[in-house]
Amino acid sequence: MSLLLTDVRPYGEGDPVDVAIAGGEITAIGAGLTPDDGAEVIDGGGKVLLPGFVDLHTHLREPGREDTETIESGSAAAALGGYTAVFAMANTNPVADSAVVTDHVYRRGQEVGLVDVHPVGAVTVGLAGEKLAEMGMMAAGAGNGVGGPNGDRPGRVRVFSDDGFCVADPLLMRRALEYSASLGVVIAQHAEEPRLTKGAVAHEGPEAARLGLTGWPRAAEEAIVARDALLARDAGARVHICHASTAGTVELLQWAKGQGIAITAEVTPHHLLLDDSRLQTYDAVNRVNPPLREASDVAALRKALRDGVIDCVATDHAPHAEQDKCCEFAAARPGMLGLETALAIVAQVCVETGDLGWRDVARVMSSKPAQIARLDDQGRPIGVGEPANLTLVDPDLGWTVRAGELASRSRNTPFAELTFRAKPVLTVLRGRVTARDGVAAQPGNGMRA
Ligand SMILES: [Zn+2]
Repeated sequence: MSLLLTDVRPYGEGDPVDVAIAGGEITAIGAGLTPDDGAEVIDGGGKVLLPGFVDLHTHLREPGREDTETIESGSAAAALGGYTAVFAMANTNPVADSAVVTDHVYRRGQEVGLVDVHPVGAVTVGLAGEKLAEMGMMAAGAGNGVGGPNGDRPGRVRVFSDDGFCVADPLLMRRALEYSASLGVVIAQHAEEPRLTKGAVAHEGPEAARLGLTGWPRAAEEAIVARDALLARDAGARVHICHASTAGTVELLQWAKGQGIAITAEVTPHHLLLDDSRLQTYDAVNRVNPPLREASDVAALRKALRDGVIDCVATDHAPHAEQDKCCEFAAARPGMLGLETALAIVAQVCVETGDLGWRDVARVMSSKPAQIARLDDQGRPIGVGEPANLTLVDPDLGWTVRAGELASRSRNTPFAELTFRAKPVLTVLRGRVTARDGVAAQPGNGMRA
């Protein structure tokens, strides 16, 4: 199967070129390429070509809550969002705390074939925060003895997280970090000191006070970020901070990186765009954990992403059923959709402001997250011989988010009816088109050889 993308601009730089793809790889880049016999030719219309995006933080809800999302519907949403790999969080039912579950998630993702679904393994059994899960078994990959690239077993878990919950016990976190260092994996921490957030539903500040909502202080996040930086230092381990949300977290990350500590962090599109003034309507679609912060935090997060203090963007795509969101604010489940709107938001708050160029977008949405997870076949530069995992972005499409038109099974997006300029219009996974012009490819024929 071969493909020729004509008239595309890699990283939005330079004159348009053609990109030839065969056998899942880029085989030629240049002007006026001739298509192979039988090749599909797609006119890129001078749009921006980027490496396929990698999301370190996705909730696909399968197994357990297939009414809100499935690996199939979430994969379609990811492909439409320009993603070629996503990391599926472990807070499913059953919890992904054993190789049986992580292997199932990986295999189901490969059967669907629209995006590489990498399972995240739980740090603790049942996410209960009491006993370490069998991280070694998950890191080895249950597989079936079939080796992948570099002897990798399929479904090998590279990222561990109790996301949804914090690994709050410092001794347990210390042991988990020590163990992770020997396994060569990374722990992604949902930084929330639970003793400081009991009953909290909104950012602790003037807005929450005015609205009568229980506050979630910045210190609940920052205390864990500081603690885990020190624990990672002592363990010689890597730690990744999920959904950084405060200016203080940015200062701590800067300090820790300056000390040579192997700490990385992600920020979500919603924390880059929205602040707690959104809560005035009491619409529970805006309830999220960590909560939407103040405008000063939003500004600090944008600057940190630009400066590389925050390494990458991750969606924290969190589908929820209507009855869990269309209710009283404090009773609603925290979380919002993200996969299909992430690029548009990053473009609006970073590219259209002049803060970042498209090459930076490739860094924060593709190469950095791939490096953090140590994926060797994603986040690669656009070059001959590289895997053909690509996203074509129309920077000037102009589109309005319609909740009812999303591929996700859920509708809890705070971005409904907002208009954005940029949108991914074509996604290619190992040379196969997985989404084009707002339509995802049919699942089921993307099995890796
Ligand atoms: Zn989380």
